[in-house]
Amino acid sequence: VSASADSPSSSGEVIENVVIIGSGPAGYTAAIYAARANLKPVVFEGYQMGGVPGGQLMTTTEVENFPGFPDGITGPDLMDKMRKQAERWGAELYPEDVESLSVQTAPFTVQSSERKVKCHSIIYATGATAKRLRLPREEEFWSRGISACAICDGASPLFKGQVLAVVGGGDTATEEALYLTKYAGHVHLLVRRDQLRASKAMQDRVNNNPNITVHYNTETVDVLSNTKGQMSGLLLRRVDTGEETELEAKGLFYGIGHSPNSQLLEGQVELDSSGYVLVREGSSNTSVEGVFVAGDVQDHEWRQAVTAAGSGCIAALSAERYLTSNN
Ligand code: FAD
Repeated sequence: VSASADSPSSSGEVIENVVIIGSGPAGYTAAIYAARANLKPVVFEGYQMGGVPGGQLMTTTEVENFPGFPDGITGPDLMDKMRKQAERWGAELYPEDVESLSVQTAPFTVQSSERKVKCHSIIYATGATAKRLRLPREEEFWSRGISACAICDGASPLFKGQVLAVVGGGDTATEEALYLTKYAGHVHLLVRRDQLRASKAMQDRVNNNPNITVHYNTETVDVLSNTKGQMSGLLLRRVDTGEETELEAKGLFYGIGHSPNSQLLEGQVELDSSGYVLVREGSSNTSVEGVFVAGDVQDHEWRQAVTAAGSGCIAALSAERYLTSNN
């Protein structure tokens, strides 16, 4: 193992120091740190979003909470800057999806549609995908009324002082509803079941908040719009009676969970029951030595660009340490 360059194996084939999978804040931050440590990282940026690198923030407009941008920055601009910074330090970027991985024996193997790469370490940063309801008009109103992140979008002028709705009955949805009361005129929590699944403490906070109305046995059918094409409300259906009603709402927030993109590691490293990659506490180490993980794929709690970037940094520094100590 070489901490300064990729190394040929005894058979003469090149073995990379570190392969990074993913091009969100976690992947690019890991790439910047690994490249600056002279590890010559190879980054598979992913093709899942139509070949556009940059991860989840490519689907949003303003990012107002990433430090260093007092006037905000658009998601695509922020990701473009991270990408350029990784490139500037010499990260090698491939715009492909990784299709399979083998981490049973070292060196590890990473296979994309275009190439097979052997490596001494891997930083897995494939993110998570917010679950969607797949409403008929969802695409039309995505980021124009529908959001999957209250912390990211709640303070937007689009939602300030307005009546908003949150879908879901677990901790995520109740947290989103409570958070939104800071900005919204009123918040409706739309729950499919006849009760909340959230913790007792969260239930109490929701039930004691006069700015939240909980609607049980309620399914969201579609978004309604006004003559200007703006979101104006929701079509709802009672699960028990089938009765349909309209609810005034200028925004709809999904709080129905996320799916971690951990499929490639299934059966190879330890995952939790929801599919998040398990790390040893306070580290980015997975259950397999030399395989590190960063960002939303290992984080069911915070899921922010800055926390993903922070964990990308930890993963790269950990990989560097690992490579040095195995030299
Ligand atoms: P992601 O950004 O999800 O990136 C994962 C990457 O992995 C993608 O590039 C994907 O293509 C790639 N990938 C997946 N599978 C493979 C594969 N098999 N091979 C190769 N590559 C693969 N957070 C904030 O802090 N502020 C905000 O304002 C904010 N707004 C948001 C708005 C929206 C609409 C959304 C959806 C999220 C928002 N977030 C915001 C959350 C933030 O985007 C995430 O926390 C962050 O992007 C997670 O970074 P990540 O690097 O872990 O993963």
